[in-house]
Amino acid sequence: MSNVAIVLFGELGLDRAAQGVAGAAQGLKAAGAGDVTAVVVGSAADGMADGLAQLVDRVVVVSDPALEDYQPETALQALSQVLPGVGATTVLLGNDIYSQEITPRLAARLGGSSLADAMEVTVEGDSVRATRSAYGGKALAVYELKRSPAVVWVRARALEPGLPTGGQAAVDERAVQITAPGLAIVERKAEAQEGVRLEDAQVIVSGGRGLGGPEPFEVLRGLADAMGAEMGASRAACDAGWVPGSWQVGQTGKKVAPELYVAIAISGASQHLLGMGDSKVIAAVNTDGDAPIFKHCSFGIVEDYKNVVPRLTEKVAELRK
Ligand code: FAD
Repeated sequence: MSNVAIVLFGELGLDRAAQGVAGAAQGLKAAGAGDVTAVVVGSAADGMADGLAQLVDRVVVVSDPALEDYQPETALQALSQVLPGVGATTVLLGNDIYSQEITPRLAARLGGSSLADAMEVTVEGDSVRATRSAYGGKALAVYELKRSPAVVWVRARALEPGLPTGGQAAVDERAVQITAPGLAIVERKAEAQEGVRLEDAQVIVSGGRGLGGPEPFEVLRGLADAMGAEMGASRAACDAGWVPGSWQVGQTGKKVAPELYVAIAISGASQHLLGMGDSKVIAAVNTDGDAPIFKHCSFGIVEDYKNVVPRLTEKVAELRK
């Protein structure tokens, strides 16, 4: 029996988010919360099970043909069969879209409590507490999760990655009984993936509604190329059809935590900040000196992007020669 379980998805691999979840679980173990079991839903990506075995006390891979194409209902069926046997009082998930979707439903099935978007989770005796940001980052709220298990998704990419324990945990395969859910995937369109995944990018140049159309994103592309950055956008720019929806950063988009996030013509709405507020350094260019983004950035220029981006691109290209 372990007191802490982490839930990961095989198809996502042992990415930065999974490592952050493992790091949070290790922190709980170090504080006396008990052993850590990693439960992997669906076949583990190459190297994932072995990598996890170096970070936790036990790895359980739940593989079934029905779990290869993620659907919330099948993942929930699998987890509600496996987790009671693990006996965890704290179950941690990451901030990928699958985890965010199933966390409250998983808590309900296990009879526990759930919380979203935790920056920190602590366990003291029987009490599990989680801290999250409130009032658009102006305050921190600490919640006590009353029912067990506490099922929480954490800001995984911003958490310290797990460190090798020095051991190699056992990896068990678990079979489960899945009953066909009442819906089927009829078509799947894979999005073309160029370069690094946005979630794993070290530098991101992101554009917003203030750019006024799709063409200026080509200007931003020049800056991104000069910096070796990936491109992101606000929801307003994605919804307008200027750039693909996969570029969206925020509450209902990608959660990123790069070394540097450059927000150009983005106001800094709380929903956008939720996706990029954990970036190490934030820089902003905006014509409005009162734009909320300036409260969250280390560097800011109050200016029209047209006067800044080309000069910045030139300078960066010169410095990186
Ligand atoms: P605006 O808020 O319109 O800001 C444009 C900015 O550009 C302004 O600050 C303006 O001063 C500046 N500007 C104008 N012209 C120039 C210029 N020439 N040069 C420089 N600056 C200029 N939003 C997200 O981004 N991600 C999400 O995941 C997300 N999820 C949401 C979920 C829900 C449930 C809801 C209700 C909203 C969500 N939103 C999300 C929308 C969010 O509330 C904002 O509407 C959105 O982020 C605004 O995008 P923006 O900053 O590009 O546009």
